[in-house]
Amino acid sequence: MTSILIIYTGGTIGMVNDPKSGSLVPFDFKQIRQNVPELDRLDYNLDVHSFDPILDSSNMTPEIWAEIALLIQNRYDEFDGFVILHGSDTMAFTASALSFMLENLNKPVVLTGSQLPIGEIRTDAKENLITALEIAATKQNGKAMVPEVCIYFDYQLFRGNRSVKYNSEKFEAFRSPNYPILAEAGVTLSFFNNYILPQPDKALKVHLDYNPNIGVLKLYPGISPLAVKAITHSSVDAIVMETFGSGNTTTDDWFINCLQEAIDGGKIILDITQCLRGSVELGMYQTSKKLQQMGVVSGYDMTFESATTKLMYLMGQGLEREEVIKLMGQSLRGELTV
Ligand code: ASP
Repeated sequence: MTSILIIYTGGTIGMVNDPKSGSLVPFDFKQIRQNVPELDRLDYNLDVHSFDPILDSSNMTPEIWAEIALLIQNRYDEFDGFVILHGSDTMAFTASALSFMLENLNKPVVLTGSQLPIGEIRTDAKENLITALEIAATKQNGKAMVPEVCIYFDYQLFRGNRSVKYNSEKFEAFRSPNYPILAEAGVTLSFFNNYILPQPDKALKVHLDYNPNIGVLKLYPGISPLAVKAITHSSVDAIVMETFGSGNTTTDDWFINCLQEAIDGGKIILDITQCLRGSVELGMYQTSKKLQQMGVVSGYDMTFESATTKLMYLMGQGLEREEVIKLMGQSLRGELTV
């Protein structure tokens, strides 16, 4: 019988209204189980691991990502797939981080959650949970159909490290702006094989170390030297710079000098675009030619979630700076298009 481990970290899916504060607070897995009697009708062997404490995902941390990765490593051989129940707010960060931490994954790790708590009549939680379980259980020729970390939400399956939370109000909470969806749930579950990562030929390798010492520099016309220096002259090891269009920045001398000093001081500067779709193309305009020459690294079409977690992951592996820069430009888990 197919075995699946449900890892419950928290999120709206299991929340209830606290009469004292009037706010939604996380509740334990019993709440979910009682509201989805259909779970008993599924022909799977289900086991549940609940995190303690149960979290609103705004309180998620890299330490908890490592705990989840370690749990998957420890119980990898017991299960055919893993479903992680998680708040939608930072789900794309956790999915991206896990995709890097779990190298050579040959089983599905499907994150899901909901916009309305499972106890609400109009909840989207039941469908999300039941279909996520079905996806985690689906095999082809005896092997997992989707051997990757992904997000299932509102009838669509996305690659985890390509996803962004796009809407805080609609059931359609996620999008994958630069990569096609992996599957769609209608009357049947349709998988789009061409877009799903192939089965790896090596054994699972789990990376638990990370370096979260990164900073973010989001540009806007009028940004001051003080605001830029607060990041470029800080003690972070790397900076994710969110630029205009295809990776452009102001060419003002003071700004270029700030970046140069940061690079000379050993920081990595990764250029990703503020546009939701499309890629950084350093050198396409004169306003990014200089960045290319001075060693700013292209983040291509990576999401912010992928860029930050990939940097944390690579910088946590004890690699030389040049090696981190080289790997940032390669697709390690299908997170970017070169
Ligand atoms: N604040 C919640 C969380 O991310 C929202 C959700 O689950 O959708 O935990």
